[in-house]
Amino acid sequence: MPLQSFIDVAATSHFPLQNLPYGIFSPPGGMPRVGVAIGDFVLDLSVLAEAGFLADIDTAVFTAATLNPLMALGSAAWQSVRATLQTLLRHDNPTLRDNAALRQRAFHAQRDVTMHLPAHIGDYTDFYSSREHASNVGRIFGREVPLLDNWLHLPVGYHGRASSVVVSGTPIRRPSGQVQQPGTAVPTFAPTQELDFELEMGFFVGPGNALGQPVPIAAAEAHIFGLVLVNDWSARDIQRWEYRPLGPFLAKNFATSISPWVVPLAALEPFRVPGPAQEPLPLPYLQTKQAGAFDIHLEVWLETAVMSAPTPISHSNFRHLYWNMAQQLTHHTITGCNLRPGDLLASGTISGPTPGSYGSLLELTWRGTQPIALPSGETRTFLQDGDRLTLTGWCQGDGYRVGFGEVSGVVVA
Ligand code: CA
Repeated sequence: MPLQSFIDVAATSHFPLQNLPYGIFSPPGGMPRVGVAIGDFVLDLSVLAEAGFLADIDTAVFTAATLNPLMALGSAAWQSVRATLQTLLRHDNPTLRDNAALRQRAFHAQRDVTMHLPAHIGDYTDFYSSREHASNVGRIFGREVPLLDNWLHLPVGYHGRASSVVVSGTPIRRPSGQVQQPGTAVPTFAPTQELDFELEMGFFVGPGNALGQPVPIAAAEAHIFGLVLVNDWSARDIQRWEYRPLGPFLAKNFATSISPWVVPLAALEPFRVPGPAQEPLPLPYLQTKQAGAFDIHLEVWLETAVMSAPTPISHSNFRHLYWNMAQQLTHHTITGCNLRPGDLLASGTISGPTPGSYGSLLELTWRGTQPIALPSGETRTFLQDGDRLTLTGWCQGDGYRVGFGEVSGVVVA
């Protein structure tokens, strides 16, 4: 029997007592503030703080409109808050359970609140850490050796655009840009015809490091506040023309969607697993002693404008990633580059080993040559206007789930 809260939580809920993800929400008519999800409710931490239950931390941390102040406090403070909340919410603790007036003020139904971007994201970096995804892309673009020669030695990544990271539910406007039609020498300007999603996860950085002081790999996980689902929307035709020689630019800067609840790394600890074997052995600064992957089941769902319900189009798992989060974070800082609270580091597309586990339409349809058949009778190569794309994911415990909710977006013209 897993640890229970006095709040009813279904066995398939993403938000049991074992999870307690942080988010920024506003109740009806209220200002944004910090909350945690429990079952179908949000627990308002600003109310708990003002009532004196989180007394070792400044109340301003919980009345803030971003999680940045909490992220900046570091892992000892995160552990303290989490321990307090897990104790207060237990089924056998009367303190909050039997205080009707406080419960009335502290709990809101999730359906009644508005979720916001959880952090002010100063910098956003996107890695490319799935061997299966990088290999598929290499094959799709006709390379004889699918992986480039650096790939097994370092976590490849690029600096993304933080200003256009949006919270789940934000409509995604189809971008226009330069595309080169096959057989032509000059580009045309048009709406993208190859709008794609990328199934990713990302983590928020906690305290961060001073400029010039790399984070050693043994200390890397202490800087990871928590994880979200990430959809790195991508315009493949724009990308194909612009990426030489510096990589993606406008093909990816128009929108990146994230889920609103940030799942603490501590909640994922029971689901830690070894990642893929790394051969050749990475250079010493990237060598980790402990298992660095996590068993997080991931799904992609698509619903077109004429469908009455979404249909699954891919199943993958976070554990497939070749490079783990500690390696990504340490590699990012090895030059002395400073990370700051609220920075978002995303994994790159998480593809598994089988065609049903690919994390983008580019791979699922093999660059549009194998359209997906949908229950509505429609087919898809890339996303059409009116399509809703949803990512979800969870860890399966014994009688409970530690889940991420979802990140969803509708494509508009
Ligand atoms: Ca990406």
